Amino acid sequence: MPPSSSSSTASVLSPGASGAMPTGSSSRTSRQLRLLPALPRRAARYVLAIDALAVLMLGAAAWSAPLRWRDIAVFTAFVLCGCVSVEGSRHLGSPASRRDRAYKDLLSAWTLPVVLLLPPVYAVLVYLPINALAQCRVTRLPPVKRVFNTAVVAIAGYVAAMAHRLISGEPAGPSTVKLAGSPRAIGAALIAAGVFATVSACLVAGVLHRIGPAMTRRQAFGSRDTLVIDVADLCVGVLVAVIWTVSPALVVLAVPPVLLLQRTLLHGELLQASRTDTKTGLANPAYWRDVAEREVTRALRTGRPLAVLLLDIDHFKAVNDTCGHLAGDLMLAEVARVLQHNVRPQDVVGRFGGEEFAVLLPNMPTEAAAGIAGRLRESVAQLSCPLAPSGSPLTVTVSVGVATLGPGRADLTGLLAASDAALYRAKGAGRNQVVVADAGRVLTR
Ligand code: GH3
Ligand code: MG
Ligand code: MG
Repeated sequence: MPPSSSSSTASVLSPGASGAMPTGSSSRTSRQLRLLPALPRRAARYVLAIDALAVLMLGAAAWSAPLRWRDIAVFTAFVLCGCVSVEGSRHLGSPASRRDRAYKDLLSAWTLPVVLLLPPVYAVLVYLPINALAQCRVTRLPPVKRVFNTAVVAIAGYVAAMAHRLISGEPAGPSTVKLAGSPRAIGAALIAAGVFATVSACLVAGVLHRIGPAMTRRQAFGSRDTLVIDVADLCVGVLVAVIWTVSPALVVLAVPPVLLLQRTLLHGELLQASRTDTKTGLANPAYWRDVAEREVTRALRTGRPLAVLLLDIDHFKAVNDTCGHLAGDLMLAEVARVLQHNVRPQDVVGRFGGEEFAVLLPNMPTEAAAGIAGRLRESVAQLSCPLAPSGSPLTVTVSVGVATLGPGRADLTGLLAASDAALYRAKGAGRNQVVVADAGRVLTR
């Protein structure tokens, strides 16, 4: 789930996003980094570098830009359209307050035409007023995050505008010929749109990676659904730019469908956000149960097996006590990544609360489920994160309870009760164990 691919910006810089806060230091760098107190040091350096690069690009673009009233009028028109979009979707809220992943604001419909139609300086500036309005009217984000988002779009816009100039070979002002008058012109517009999206996605992924190295590629770049949203958003941007060159007045006709599209896509974003645990990116308990209920019903109807695993991190309180809660949070994210990595695409991994996880394994008989549980246990035990205050690697283990559909476990409640009892026995047997419900045996150590 997850502003537009043009405006593909990170929702990553809220306080608490980091697990490795910079500790006090009297060096010059540390003094600078205190400006960004909620970020790990290398993420803070990266953010400062991106902000500085955007300012440099603004200077370079402004230096070479001819001042034309016509350009200013076109720029103002698209900024106004962007502001109408922000206002139009305001009541839907925004997933921008999420800190662990990229999100989309779906404003390429208005920012991309500026990239394609005007000198690069306008591409650098276009997101600034729109983002300022979003800050005042939609979601009040930490200023460092808004500034970073604006810098990302500025850099992506500058690079895309330069690429468009270079490929189209047409430095002249906005015209249909320049945008769609030849295969070369169309190719240039499409490539510029792709560059816009790619540069912004990479810059955002860069900070996400520095905040949480455990972040999956999917969390950093978005899922396949996100890609579809990106492409739709970019297509609208190119179409709006072409419509503008035919007749600026016609762009008014694009406003309602763009607003509708934006609402539809935002709805998808918000739905996805409502299903996800923010700390780990896994399914949240409500969504996990929802899917599990459906799968149990299906398994009972078709007579296929189904298994549920409950996993609990052993002695996790000690991790918090020795390394701090932020390190604990990073460890939780790492464990989640490992669990997700070691199951099939159709399996559903959820965070059940605290340091407990649930895995739904459709079409999985008992022995195979026990095998998967053993593999998850081993993979977590092999995890090693450099999070301990001493710098030495931190490791954790999990205890696992396994239950499959069968007599006395003919619904989800029964399955969960049985796997919870098995988990309890795994704890009692010394932890770092897998116990299968009713099997009366501890499977691994
Ligand atoms: P056991 O092996 O018996 O499960 O021991 P435990 O220490 O893991 O279990 P206990 O229930 O005593 O403590 C769970 C700990 O998990 C306490 C709580 O601080 C920690 N915890 C729960 N949720 C979170 C979270 O979201 N982040 C962090 N960092 N810690 C959490
Ligand atoms: Mg525990
Ligand atoms: Mg627990």
